[in-house]
Amino acid sequence: MISQKVFFSDRVTDSSYNMLDKLEHVFQELNLDLSIVDGEKVMIKTHMGLYGNTNYIRPAYVRKLVDVVRNAGGIPFVADTCSLGYGTSRPYGGRTTAQDYYMRAILNGYTQATVGAPIIFADGYWGSDFLEVPIDGEYLTSVPVPSAVFDCDKVIVLSHAKFHHIGIASALKNMGVGLVAKKGKTAVHSPKGLEIYPGKCKGSDCSRCVTVCPVRCITVSDSVSIDMSKCIQCGHCSSICSGKVKAGALKVTWAGVNMAEKIVENTLGVLKSIGHERFYFINLAIDISDMCDCVCYGAPLLMHDLGIFGSRDPVVVDAATADTMKSRLSNGSNPNFARVQELVEKSSVFFEHAKKIGLSTGKYDLVQISNSS
Ligand code: SF4
Ligand code: SF4
Repeated sequence: MISQKVFFSDRVTDSSYNMLDKLEHVFQELNLDLSIVDGEKVMIKTHMGLYGNTNYIRPAYVRKLVDVVRNAGGIPFVADTCSLGYGTSRPYGGRTTAQDYYMRAILNGYTQATVGAPIIFADGYWGSDFLEVPIDGEYLTSVPVPSAVFDCDKVIVLSHAKFHHIGIASALKNMGVGLVAKKGKTAVHSPKGLEIYPGKCKGSDCSRCVTVCPVRCITVSDSVSIDMSKCIQCGHCSSICSGKVKAGALKVTWAGVNMAEKIVENTLGVLKSIGHERFYFINLAIDISDMCDCVCYGAPLLMHDLGIFGSRDPVVVDAATADTMKSRLSNGSNPNFARVQELVEKSSVFFEHAKKIGLSTGKYDLVQISNSS
């Protein structure tokens, strides 16, 4: 079986070799400085955090990547996708449209001026701009890949490595939730998708769901009807109907089942869209908690920062990160050891499913790098 290299630069820094220097070093080890061809469009896919979350990736890391991509001859841009729901606030809301998300990004210090490149929302204003990529998955048969991905020569997936209740939340989650359109996010989070209960509709005097539908597939007269052949499962209407109007005629139930497996299958679709060879993965294992950056608070940290991991394979970069997280606590002296151990063990569902569907061998060689290497 073929092993993939995972480069690792630890968190030990000094004035001649700080974390931004280390990020550039990982970029070089991935051969990006030589493989970017003049004029190539390079997406830097990251997550700019929900406002109030203080654990998200600082803009200085993204700025560093923008600068080294540009020095290599590439044309960098920074991208993320819109999130689910509509007009929701705490704890997950505020990134429903490109405008909503950009306002939050600015509050978190992300602007074209700070990162040095345009910031775009890869699936458009409403999160409805995508192309379906067919896959032969166990749970999914197609993946809605944001249109912007198809115009990229290279994609650098810069992920904040931490945990989520289903295990590690890093490269795979940044791809399989973060780099799919809303339909793909709903597929992960809601087994039934949009449910319709016309008898509960308040009729055309309400009609509040109509104007939030990006594809205008809702009609309301005495009751609601939806052209499901056009519906993109964004859940905007259910946020309004169940969340604001409290009618419950349109509902999306957030009860993820086989979430890890579906995230892996979404990742497969994104890789397939323009080819796995165009993707590069960098994990920043810093500010490690058990909550994502899509919540409005910075959860307490579980352990010290580890450093930076880089690989061409999204599965092994996460596996190496998770294994290192566990090994750093292996003496059991950290009071969070049991929690970290539990979350690392849960992460194996991602890795096993990735092997099963042929996404990765799961084998890696960890290559520690330093300023003498
Ligand atoms: S928001 Fe709900 S209650 Fe109001 S029109 Fe739409 S489906 Fe009916
Ligand atoms: S009907 Fe479908 S596309 Fe329209 S808002 Fe509801 S979930 Fe989104």
